[in-house]
Amino acid sequence: MSTKNKEDLKKLAQILLPDANLTIEEIVEKYPPRKLSKDAIVTRIAPSPTGFLHIGGIYAALIPERLGHQSGGIFYLRIEDTDKKREVEGATELIVNSLKAFNINVDEGQIGSNKEIGDYGPYKQSERKFIYQAFVKKLLEDGDAYPAFETIEELAKITEQQTAAKLAPGYYGQWTTWSNKTTNEALAALEKGLTPVIRLRSTGDLQKFILIEDLFKGKLRLPENNQDIVILKSDGLPTYHFAHVIDDHFMGTTHVIRGDEWLASLPLHVQLFKKMNWELPTYGHLAPIQKLDGNSRRKLSKRHDPEANVMFYEKAGYPPEVVTMYLLNLANSGFEKWLIENSKEKLENYKLSINELKKGSGALLDLVKMDSFGKEYIGGLAAETMAGMTLRWAKKYDEELATLIEDDMDYFISILNIERENIKARKDICKWSDVHGQVGFFFDSFFAKQGINMDELAGTDLKTVKEVAQSVAEKYNPQDDKEVWLQTMRDISVELGYAADAKAFKENPEKYKGNFGDMAKIIRVLLVGKNQSPDLYEVMKVLGSERVNRRLTSNIWSAKK
Ligand code: GLU
Repeated sequence: MSTKNKEDLKKLAQILLPDANLTIEEIVEKYPPRKLSKDAIVTRIAPSPTGFLHIGGIYAALIPERLGHQSGGIFYLRIEDTDKKREVEGATELIVNSLKAFNINVDEGQIGSNKEIGDYGPYKQSERKFIYQAFVKKLLEDGDAYPAFETIEELAKITEQQTAAKLAPGYYGQWTTWSNKTTNEALAALEKGLTPVIRLRSTGDLQKFILIEDLFKGKLRLPENNQDIVILKSDGLPTYHFAHVIDDHFMGTTHVIRGDEWLASLPLHVQLFKKMNWELPTYGHLAPIQKLDGNSRRKLSKRHDPEANVMFYEKAGYPPEVVTMYLLNLANSGFEKWLIENSKEKLENYKLSINELKKGSGALLDLVKMDSFGKEYIGGLAAETMAGMTLRWAKKYDEELATLIEDDMDYFISILNIERENIKARKDICKWSDVHGQVGFFFDSFFAKQGINMDELAGTDLKTVKEVAQSVAEKYNPQDDKEVWLQTMRDISVELGYAADAKAFKENPEKYKGNFGDMAKIIRVLLVGKNQSPDLYEVMKVLGSERVNRRLTSNIWSAKK
C-alpha cells in the first residue's frame, strides 16, 4: 500500500481477517522451546493426504525418523492438508497405517484419522488456520504483506506478456500491480465482491545470493527470492511456504528433511524466516528415488510406475521389513554389510550415516535387489512364523491360498519346513505372492487344476512312465530314512533298466534306458507336475504315502499322449 498509515493498515487487516483473534503472544506462549539435549534432532514427515503414498514418501520418512531417534530427538507427523481440492477421504489413515506397517514410529502427530498426540499440535494444518492468520494479520498491519485481487485470467495475461517479452514469469517488480494500491482501492475491490490472496512484499534481489549448507547437498549458493509470493490463499488457508515456516518454527523442528523439489523455494523460505526473525532450521533435501528406463535414469513416476505406490509392495506381499531393509540400503550402501554382521539385530538399531547419504545422487529402485532382501529375510524365518505371515497376507489378497492354509495349517507348516533348517536354507520365496506358485502343488485341489506337464517327459514312453510309477508306489515307505529311500529308488531303477548311477550310465549308455536321474525325473514330474522341486525325498515325506500313491497311480497323466 502506498498509504503507510498504520491505522489504515490495521483497519484493512481487520476487515480482511476478522476471525484471526489469536494474539502473537498467545501463540508464542503455547509453543515453548523444547527441552532437549544440544545434539537432539527434531524432525518430521509432512505428507499431504492425497490418497497416494509414494515409496519415496516412506524413504523420506525413514531417513528423518532414523536421524531424529538415533540423536535422542523427536520425529513427528504433520498432515499438510491445506490444498482441499487434492484431499482424499481415508488418506490420513493410509499414511498413519503405512508408517506403522513400516515400523516408522512417530512421537507426536496424527496417530489416527482424528486422533493425535503431542504438545505442539494441532498437527493437521487445516486446524491451525488461526495461527497462520494471526501472523498474516501482523504482516498486513506492518505493511509487509498486502491483498492482491487479480483474477486467474488477469494473472494468465501477465504470464503471457512476460513470455512474449522473454521475461521470467511471476509476480515481481513492475508486475506487482497490487503492491502499491491504497487501502481505499483494496476496500473498493472487496466491495465489488472480489476475494483477495495475501502476498508477502519481497525485499529480495536476484543479483544477490544466499549461501546455505544443505545436509545432503553440501554448500549451496542460490539467488534471493524477488517474487511477492502468496502466503494466504483466497480460501483463508496458507500456502505450503508460509505454513512450513510457521509450523516448523513453532513445532521446534531443527532439521527440515524433504524432497529436493523444494530446493527452488528455499530462498523464499529463508526470506520468510528472516522476515519473522526466527532461527533458520537445518535443511536436507533428498534426491528422489529413480528408475532405470532403458539406459537412462528418471524419477519414479506416480502415474507410470506401479512400483511407485506403497500399495504395490503390500499387494505383492513384500514384508515391510524387507522394504525397510531395501530403503536403508538405498540410503546407505554400508547397510547390507551391517545386516550380514548383525543379522540378529533389530533394524531400528542401524545407525544411518549422513555422510553416506551425501554421496548418493538419487537412489535407483531395483526390484531384483528388493527380491534378494526378501529371500534372505523370509529364508531366515521359522516355518510357523512364515505360515502366520503368509496367512495374514493371503486372507487379504489370495483367498484360495488362505483357505488351503486354514484347512490344514500343520500340513502347510511341514511344507514350509522342507529344507528350512538346512545350513543352506531354501530361498525360493521373496514375497508372499510367490508362495502359492512355489508350494501350491502340495495341495490336491491346486495340483488337479495345474495338471502335469507331460512335455517334461518327452522322449520317455508311457509304458516306462507307468512301470516306474507303479514300482515306486508299491515300494515307497514314508518311514524310511533318506539312505534307505535312496537305495530303494536305485534298486527300482536297476530293475527297470536304468543305470544305478551316473558313472555306470556314462560307461555303457547303450545298455540302459537312462540314468538314475532320468527315473527320478519321472517321479518328480508325476508328483509335482514339473521337473523342479525341493529335495524329492522330503517332498514325498511331506506329501505322505496316501498322496504319493494317489498321484502315482492316478490316470490324469496316462490319458495324455
Ligand atoms: N507437504 C509437502 C510435500 O508433501 C511436505 C514437504 C516438507 O516436508 O516440508 O511435499
